[in-house]
Amino acid sequence: MIYLDAAATTPVKREVLEAMWPYLTGDFGNPSSHHGVGDSAARALTAARRTVAEHLGCRPGEVVFTSGGTEADNLAVKGIALGAPRGRHVVLSAIEHPAVVETVDHLRRLHGFEVTVLPVDSAGLVDPDDFSRALRPDTTLATLMYANNEVGTVQPLAALAARAREAGVPFHTDAVQAAGWLPVRLDALGVDALSISGHKLGAPKGVGALAVRQRLPLEPVLHGGGQERGARSGTENVAFAVGLATALRLAEPGRADAAARVTALRDDFIRAVLARVPGAVLTGPPLASDAARITSPQAGGGAHPDPRLPSVASFCFPGTSGESVLLQLEERGVIVSSGSACAAGSDEPSPVLLALGLTPDVAQTAVRFTLSPDTTAADLTSAVDSLAAGIADLSSLR
Ligand code: PLP
Repeated sequence: MIYLDAAATTPVKREVLEAMWPYLTGDFGNPSSHHGVGDSAARALTAARRTVAEHLGCRPGEVVFTSGGTEADNLAVKGIALGAPRGRHVVLSAIEHPAVVETVDHLRRLHGFEVTVLPVDSAGLVDPDDFSRALRPDTTLATLMYANNEVGTVQPLAALAARAREAGVPFHTDAVQAAGWLPVRLDALGVDALSISGHKLGAPKGVGALAVRQRLPLEPVLHGGGQERGARSGTENVAFAVGLATALRLAEPGRADAAARVTALRDDFIRAVLARVPGAVLTGPPLASDAARITSPQAGGGAHPDPRLPSVASFCFPGTSGESVLLQLEERGVIVSSGSACAAGSDEPSPVLLALGLTPDVAQTAVRFTLSPDTTAADLTSAVDSLAAGIADLSSLR
């Protein structure tokens, strides 16, 4: 099997599982218990929180462990908006993940918030001047994702966060897809809150974190025993928190090299698909010319930061359906996603692709290939062959 759906999820790394194992078995205590078994769990949780904080560029007291990216986004959006003394206006982009879109809509429906949805260009980029213009004295929160899960667009996040800071508006970013590829640090990016999810990084499904500046009042979403300094009640999932911390620690030393290597593989793959599949349309940021490309996204100092996540190559294949291409590939042992796995089961064209200006007919034909640090050139050569053969088969049926 050639697995090219790493943006949907990744397998748990062996080292992560080994680090978690003691806290599922011998050291199974409840960190709130006042005895040795509980103390051991509490120490593990404290160490995991410290590691996550080091990687996210914040203080340990600013990390809230959650059940994943969706909960981290919910807590950020509801928590900051409902905790804020100022205004009832939220700004987001037209290509946010449903975990943000639906939460903002909840604020609109149930709490009377006004919402400004920022358009994006055909590459999926928000215009910083549009963003500045959308910020008002009563804006409670701006939430703009770091890297898009469907087309891989990487926003100029530090510049956008600076605009929010100038306007005094709290800024949250969904960094679920960026983590593992780009630096995701509150201090370096200048953001106030940032969500990550473990299962995109080799930790299990069902764990994530929200890093949020302590100065922001945060209204909890889950009420109860007051764990996580009151921000998220419920007995802490110690083993999974340890897993998340371990996955972040393992990813970091080789992250920049993996990003550069996978970026090069990705670009060769994109060129091969465009050359071999007649009518294929690359979605998201265009392929930078080799001369203009720098080695890694958001590297700073380079004139042309790559606005595409190293791992994402997404296309439309007009005249097909995304689902039929996915099946053709699966028959040949290549696993991909049609549209977004997070909106699985929906027949509607992706709102993200529509926001990029694609027509509903073309958007229905979307297929996303997402690479991992383990993807090889041979995997991608094989995937291109399978894709060309699969699409030829589909054309011969028409
Ligand atoms: N945000 C983005 C950008 C995602 O891609 C995803 C999942 O794919 C999520 C949030 C939700 O994360 P989780 O699956 O951990 O709830």
